This record gives sequence, structure tokens and C-alpha cells, in this order.
Amino acid sequence: MKYIDEFRDGVLARGVAAAIAKESRSAREYRLMEFCGGHTHAISRYGIADLLPANVRMIHGPGCPVCVLPIGRIDQAIRLAREHGVILCTYGDCLRVPASERLSLLKAKALGAKVRMVYSTQDALKIARDNPDRQVVFLAIGFETTTPPTAVAVRQAAAEGLSNFSILCNHVLTPAAMHAILAGGVDIDGFVGPAHVSTVIGYAPYEVFATDYLKPVVIAGFEPLDVMQAILMLIRQINDGRAQVENEFTRAVTREGNAKAQALVTEVFELRQSFEWRGLGTVPSSALKLRPAYAAFDAELRFDVPYVAVADNKACECAAILRGQKRPQECAIFGTVCSPDNPVGSCMVSSEGACAAYYTYGRFRGQSASEIQSRVR
Ligand code: SF4
Repeated sequence: MKYIDEFRDGVLARGVAAAIAKESRSAREYRLMEFCGGHTHAISRYGIADLLPANVRMIHGPGCPVCVLPIGRIDQAIRLAREHGVILCTYGDCLRVPASERLSLLKAKALGAKVRMVYSTQDALKIARDNPDRQVVFLAIGFETTTPPTAVAVRQAAAEGLSNFSILCNHVLTPAAMHAILAGGVDIDGFVGPAHVSTVIGYAPYEVFATDYLKPVVIAGFEPLDVMQAILMLIRQINDGRAQVENEFTRAVTREGNAKAQALVTEVFELRQSFEWRGLGTVPSSALKLRPAYAAFDAELRFDVPYVAVADNKACECAAILRGQKRPQECAIFGTVCSPDNPVGSCMVSSEGACAAYYTYGRFRGQSASEIQSRVR
């Protein structure tokens, strides 16, 4: 296939669905975790779950950068903007994540804080250049996909001597989260692995899950046929009793990944000893911080904003959803108190969040007409 439309072709999709139905064994259940929120979004948007047999169950993983950010990290960003007077720059999804005291970055902006939405790290650098008399902090979030652009920005700031620019670093690592999921004892038969992360790190880092945990991994793209093909490949491995790392996304992912991007990240960042994730708790060696050579650009060192852990809203089941232990509909306030217009937890904010994806594309799935009417009244 050469064109994007072909990866959404309904006839081809039904063919892969038929192969999944034929090859999956009715005597067993297949519990497959799609690690990445991009896959969760694709599964919901394209109705992939409806094309799968009942014994092939997709479990949503923690691979949504906004979702795994704990409240305390958003609180830090808000404190930077409100108490230290910085211009706080971040990607759009971060703006609406609920923080302490019913705040969010968007509400802080409404209260007068200088919060700016940016599309790239280059936007944040430009804001720093344009405002030499103000401190500018970039709230850096995301997995290995978004880390290289942050590294580029830090190196650029260093080269330009941009002394009013720094980052609040929340970059996290995919394999560490997968380790935490498995160590937590979640019952999973295999992983659909993230394509974009793997374009950077390659697929070699997942081999430990096949060799040590005996869990097959298939790296998959984000189009519906990519995901369905990966599900079929996982079912075949499970049926054969194999546990290997296979690469469905051969059009961009190699075993070694992008050596230039990896070198750049290694030059600028080093491992944090531990980092608190929403849902996974404190996970050792699961996130990055700036190396001493770039410490001048570390907002946590430049400003007095210690991290303070904050518990989630008691009604919110985001933590269990991010661990793969619950589905969005199992949250008592899903679709009622909590909706994309009024998110109570982080999983309802980003389109990659499991709750937002279910709400947008599948909240009435499996319900009768009268049940639907009672919900929309
Ligand atoms: S519906 Fe809202 S409150 Fe419930 S788990 Fe999802 S994001 Fe959290």
C-alpha cells in the first residue's frame, strides 16, 4: 500500500477482520494492550473494537503523555506562571488538565497568568527571543517522540546564550512504563507497540519483553489497517506459542531507530532516578532530566518550585485505566460529571485519552435506544 487512504480501506479491513476471526481460538481470550493513546484513538474512531471477536480484547495502556502527567506537575507549571511571573509555554492539550484547587493552566491564564499555547519548541524559543525582559519556561512533556525537539531547543538556547529560557522537563520513557505495567501484574498476552516512539528508539528496546516476560510485541502504525494487522500478528504469535518483537510499521521503524536523534537526546538529557506517573506511581529510571552541562536551562533549578505529589479526585478512575485495570465506562462519573467540556481527570482531556476517545466515538456502544435517550436527556 502506498497511500494513506489504502490504510483505511473498508474492504481490506473486513478481510483482516475475517482473518482475525478465523485465526483466534474461541476457547481462549486474547488480552492485548495498545500502549499508545494514538492507537486507542484509532481503535475508537474507526470502530476497530466492533470488528474484533468477543474474545479479542483491547486494553488501553498509559501511552498518552497528557494522561500520565500527575496533578503535581501541572501545579508546578501553574506556580511558575502565577508566583514567579514567567511566560509558561506548552502544547494545547496540557492547558485543560485539571490541577489542584480547581485550576488548570487555562484557568490560570484567565486569572492573569502568562500562559501561551505553542505548536513546537521553536515557538517557545521565539517567545523567549521576543521577550528578553521576561523568563520563558517551556513545559516539556511526552515520550521519546517529543524529546528530540526539546533537546534541539535547549541546545539552540545554549548556543544563542538565551538566558531567559528554560524547560520544566517531564519527558518519560516507554519501555520503563511497560516494565511497570507488567510488574504490576496486569494480565496481558501481548503489546501493540507505538510506531512514532519506535522511529526514534527502534524496536530493540522491546526485546526484553519477549525474552524475559514472554510477551509478544508488534510495533504498529496509527492507521486502522496498521492496528488490525498488528492484532492479527499478535494472535498468530500467541497461537504459535511465540514471543517475539515484530515490526508492522516497516515503512518508518528499524531495529536501531534514529541514531542521530538518540545521540542528541543523550547529549542533553540523563535519566532521573525516579519519576511519579499518574496511575503507575513512582517508577525508577522512567523519565529524563537535563544533564549538568545544560542545568542552566532547568526550570526546576532556576526557580523554587519543588514537586508536591497530589492525589487524584476520589471519583476519578484514571489511575486504574492507565494501568489497564479498568475501562472508562467503569468510572461512575464518565460521560455525566466528567466530559471533554468539563474534564475531571486527565484521560478526558486529550483526544488520545481513553475516556475522551470512548466519549467521542463509543459512549453509546452496546446500549439500547432507551438507555441512550436517558443519557442524552
Ligand atoms: S471519566 Fe473522567 S473522572 Fe472518570 S476516569 Fe475518565 S477522566 Fe477520570
